[in-house]
Amino acid sequence: MRKINFNVPPVVGEELKYIEDAVSTGKICGDGKYTKLCNSWLEQNTDVRAALLTTSCTHATELAAILCGIREGDEVIMPSYTFVSTADAFVLRGATVVFVDIRPDTMNIDENLIEAAITDRTKAIVPVHYAGVACEMDRIMEIAKRHRLYVIEDAAQGMMASYQGKALGAIGDMGCYSFHETKNYSMGEGGAILLRDGKYKEAAEIIREKGTNRSKFFRGEIDKYTWVEAGSSYLPSELNAAYLWAQLLHADEIYNSRMRVWKRYEEAFLPLEEAGRIELPKVPEGCVHNAHMFYIKTKDLKERTALISYLKTKEILAVFHYIPLHTAPAGRKYGRFFGEDIYTTKESERLVRLPLYYGMEEEDTERVIREVLAFYGA
Ligand SMILES: *Cc1c(COP(=O)(O)O)cnc(C)c1O
Repeated sequence: MRKINFNVPPVVGEELKYIEDAVSTGKICGDGKYTKLCNSWLEQNTDVRAALLTTSCTHATELAAILCGIREGDEVIMPSYTFVSTADAFVLRGATVVFVDIRPDTMNIDENLIEAAITDRTKAIVPVHYAGVACEMDRIMEIAKRHRLYVIEDAAQGMMASYQGKALGAIGDMGCYSFHETKNYSMGEGGAILLRDGKYKEAAEIIREKGTNRSKFFRGEIDKYTWVEAGSSYLPSELNAAYLWAQLLHADEIYNSRMRVWKRYEEAFLPLEEAGRIELPKVPEGCVHNAHMFYIKTKDLKERTALISYLKTKEILAVFHYIPLHTAPAGRKYGRFFGEDIYTTKESERLVRLPLYYGMEEEDTERVIREVLAFYGA
């Protein structure tokens, strides 16, 4: 029996061609031809004033935290059901993370709980678009505007997904994408920061280039570059950017391939949901998702453990993730949960992700479906 992996990094076939071209140009450090091509593609496809590739989504979020001037004593509101990077970026700047509960239907931050968690120290709200399904951004932006808070979208999973017609990551002040190998579009390790308005562009370029105004220098706007601010190095190599460029040229193909699998899973498991045995992902009106992940929710933790073990005996790797951050040692040290944890822990314990990746063979999808149905005796 052939093993079905949970994830297979996307390869469209032209990656090496562009990497070879990058090598032949004699420039493999950052901000060359391929980085610029990717930046423009992102700007055009998300309709933001500036997009800059970064070394990861974690780094894009760090860059966003620096741009917002987050510092010691500040508070940042986010869900506890998320990847560690969402919190790390702000904790590194000395901020306290304030976790609020999620909605059980989308696993996203509950927009109705945010306002009560705001204090004099709150500086930003960080919605995480779980599974490429948007948070309730109209409501979140309205709260942020009234309280003068930054909105930094963790859109690590959200590329090619939208909310009311707007690209995820392009709605808040800043948005962060991930191009890790587990995401829909990849460059191995990498990410991007999206800046909705032009006003943060120059500052972002400076922080990303070790605190220098080198980007301006390369554009010929100044005749020598110098150290102007505290910064870091968040720009990826051209080799990684060339890999990503191949993927962006095939963005629709990757999207369609993943969507086929997602829709097939949904159709196959609908009867189980209707029979009250499991729950399936919900996509609210106005949200267009990107088939980043397909999960099912089992009755409880015990049933989930049994399902994952059963699938493993059939050589199928299904996984769960996100031990709620507020229960982790660092989460207890750097954060607090506001209000009551009604859904975060309970729902996270029921969720299991099924194999889904670009180019997944139909017979593999069918095998996963057969075995999940067999587990439920359906
Ligand atoms: C993958 C992911 C990240 C981190 O992305 P990297 O590019 O690996 O730094 C952050 N947040 C969420 C929600 C993610 O899924």
